[in-house]
Amino acid sequence: MNILVLNCGSSSVKFQVIATDLELIAQNSDKRLARGMLERIGSQALITLQAEGSAKIKRAAPIKDHRAAIDFILRWIISAESGIDAVNSLSDLHAVGHRIVHGGEKFSKSVRIDLDIITGIEDCIELAPLHNPAGLRGIRAVIDLLGMAVPQVAVFDTAFHSTMPDTAYLYGLPYPLYRRYKIRRYGFHGTSHRYIAYRYRQQTSREKGDVNIIGLHLGNGCSASLIKNGESVDTSMGFTPLDGLLMGTRSGDVDASILEYLHHKEGLDFGALDTLLNKRSGLLGISGLTNDMRELLEEEAENQDRRATLAIDIFCRRVRKYIGAYYVEAGGKIDDIVFTGGIGENSPVIRERICRGLDSIGLTLDDSANQATHTGRENKISTADSKLGAYVFPTNEELLIARDTLRVVEDAPRRW
Ligand code: ADP
Repeated sequence: MNILVLNCGSSSVKFQVIATDLELIAQNSDKRLARGMLERIGSQALITLQAEGSAKIKRAAPIKDHRAAIDFILRWIISAESGIDAVNSLSDLHAVGHRIVHGGEKFSKSVRIDLDIITGIEDCIELAPLHNPAGLRGIRAVIDLLGMAVPQVAVFDTAFHSTMPDTAYLYGLPYPLYRRYKIRRYGFHGTSHRYIAYRYRQQTSREKGDVNIIGLHLGNGCSASLIKNGESVDTSMGFTPLDGLLMGTRSGDVDASILEYLHHKEGLDFGALDTLLNKRSGLLGISGLTNDMRELLEEEAENQDRRATLAIDIFCRRVRKYIGAYYVEAGGKIDDIVFTGGIGENSPVIRERICRGLDSIGLTLDDSANQATHTGRENKISTADSKLGAYVFPTNEELLIARDTLRVVEDAPRRW
C-alpha cells in the first residue's frame, strides 16, 4: 500500500509517501518514496520536495490554505518531475495517515476517520486550539481532493500516554476541575516515544512487556517519558506541550504564580504571557541568542558566551532531574535510557553533559560509541558493564503513522 502521511501544522504541511504492507513491516523494510514540507501557508510558501534517491527541490509559490498546500503536494507526487515510479496517478495513493496532536481522553489508539471521528477531533479543539484545527483542515482537504473512497486514519500524539495512571496524570488542582474540564496531563510526542520503544525492543530482542526505559525526545520540543512493561506510565509534557523539560523557546516547568506577578509588574495579559512562555523562553530566553542548540554550542565554543553555557547547563540539568525522578518512580527497574530528536540523535556533547553524574545510578557512557553516534545512527552508547544502559534511536514518527494507517485500514470495515 502507498500511504500518504500528513502532518498539518497551523501554517505548514509536512508529508511523506511510504510504501508498506504486513510483510514489509515484518522485515522492517517499508520504503519511503518521497518527503517534503510546505511552510508559510497563507502567503508566499517555501516548499521543499524530495523523491527518495533524488536531489532536494526548493520552490516558492503562493499557497493560500491547507487545501491548496495538499493539492500542490498531490500534483507534485504524481508528476513526471517527482519521478516516483510507484505513484503515477492519484489512484496509486491507497490511504492517508494524519498526525493529529490531541486526542483528549477519547482516543487511545489510531482510528479510521469517519464523520463521528471528525466530530471527536473537533471536540478536542479546545484542548489544542492551534493544532487540531490544522489536522481537520488536512482531513477535509483530502476528502475534497481524493474523495471519500480513500481511507484516512488519525494517529494521535497523545495516544501512547493514555496508559498513564491517574496518580501520574492528575495535577494538584481541585479534583472537580478535572471532572468538569478534563484538566490533566495528556503528554505529547507519543508516536515518537512509541517508536523508540519499538526499535529498542527489536534491537535488544525483548518482548514488549520487557521494555523498561526512560525515553528522551530532545528536539525543538522536548519530553521525557517513563515506559514500564512497554507502556507509558509518566511523561513530562502535560495539559499542553509547555510543561516539563526546558525547550527551544518553551520554558517547561515554572511556578504558575510567576504569571500573576508578571501581570502586575509588566502589565502582560494572558495572550502576552502565553507568548512569553511558549515563544520567548527556554534556550532562547535564557541565552538571549537563539533557540537552536547547535548554534548555542558554537557560541559557547567560539565566543565563550556565558549565557549560552547557562542555557545549555540548565537544559541538561532539567533532563537529568527527570531521569532521576523517573528512575526512582520505577523503583530502579530501568534497563536503559534512550535518546532521540534532533538534539538527542545528533549531539554527543549534550548527551555526555546530560549523563555526567548519572554514574550515581549506574550509567557509564562509552565515550567513543557516543562520539561516533550522530546523523541517523542507531547505537548503544554505554559500556558493556554499565548497570544502566543508554541508546540512541533516531525517531521516525511518519513510519509508525504509515504502519498504523495500513493496519487500521486492513482491520476496519468501510464507514462514513
Ligand atoms: P523539531 O522538534 O522541530 O522536530 P528537531 O527534532 O529537528 O526539531 O530538533 C531541532 C534541534 O536539534 C535544534 O535545537 C538543533 O540545533 C538541534 N540539533 C540538530 N543537529 C544538532 C547537532 N549536530 N548538535 C546539536 N544540536 C543539534
